[in-house]
Amino acid sequence: MKGRKKEASNIDVVLRGIRNNIVKILPENSFIFKQISLVGLKINAKAHHAPLTSMVMGVYATQHCNLNCKCCTAFSPIAEKSFLNIESYKNDMEKLAELTGNKISSFYVTGGEPLLHPQITEIFRIAREYFPETEISFMTNGLLLLKMSEEFWENLNKNNITINLSKYPIQIHEDKIREKAKLYDVVFDYVGGGDVPVKSMWKYPLDVNGKQPLERSYNICTQINRCVTMKNGLIYPCNTIAGIEHFNKYFNKNFEVTAKDVLDLHKVKDINEVYEFLYTPKPFCKYCNRKGVEFGIKYGPSKKDIQEWT
Ligand code: SF4
Ligand code: SF4
Repeated sequence: MKGRKKEASNIDVVLRGIRNNIVKILPENSFIFKQISLVGLKINAKAHHAPLTSMVMGVYATQHCNLNCKCCTAFSPIAEKSFLNIESYKNDMEKLAELTGNKISSFYVTGGEPLLHPQITEIFRIAREYFPETEISFMTNGLLLLKMSEEFWENLNKNNITINLSKYPIQIHEDKIREKAKLYDVVFDYVGGGDVPVKSMWKYPLDVNGKQPLERSYNICTQINRCVTMKNGLIYPCNTIAGIEHFNKYFNKNFEVTAKDVLDLHKVKDINEVYEFLYTPKPFCKYCNRKGVEFGIKYGPSKKDIQEWT
């Protein structure tokens, strides 16, 4: 597996490099950029659709956020305030560790904004307790980093937690964050790599009629095996299914999540059941118009309009 994972990572790096260079010459919202990107997404998706022998796992520390970005793929602008339940998270981590022999490729904590969780250091400590050798990171918009306590920074160092900063066009004193990370000997990185341009938004439209050919959506989906999410004892293959309850509630819709879209972690006997689950298209993919992806949407505040997600 190490070989395959490395291969997929190399493809990620190469495709990202190509994209980051193309973006310097072609506007992201142009037709040509979209066509080139669709090809890139197909190649990328193919690399991630290989049968698994290890996996990347993520949890949402919070679903809400201290930013309010248009087209947020985590549905944060329309999500109610909610925090990861520590007891349930600990149980899930224990079971995951038991199934995997305490080894997964990487583990990440995300949101919303994970630093809004009052027990964020405990979340990191538990992750490290169950996965002593795994790369563990958290994704953040960076707004709170310089306000975090010394204890927080020491915890990052002690548990070897990597910061993954999303590059939004906001004021966050990046140089000071880097200095602080250096001071506490904490690895600092960017979501998508250091050369990634400052974010414009992408939209993967949802199909309110659920008429997408689900195999096609699945086959070009780059969330497969990258955005696997664990929540309240369930494994979700992607953050779209994991977060859809917020969309449903806010817009009074009923995008159905069936028993085949999720896996009950605590009923799993063997890790291969998880790998098999993650390797097959899900009924929910009929709601995902992956081909209709829109790039280069100007960054700005969400108006909580359904069109930001459809
Ligand atoms: S910072 Fe990220 S999670 Fe928060 S609203 Fe913006 S896109 Fe969503
Ligand atoms: S529902 Fe299917 S196509 Fe949509 S993001 Fe999830 S796995 Fe991908």
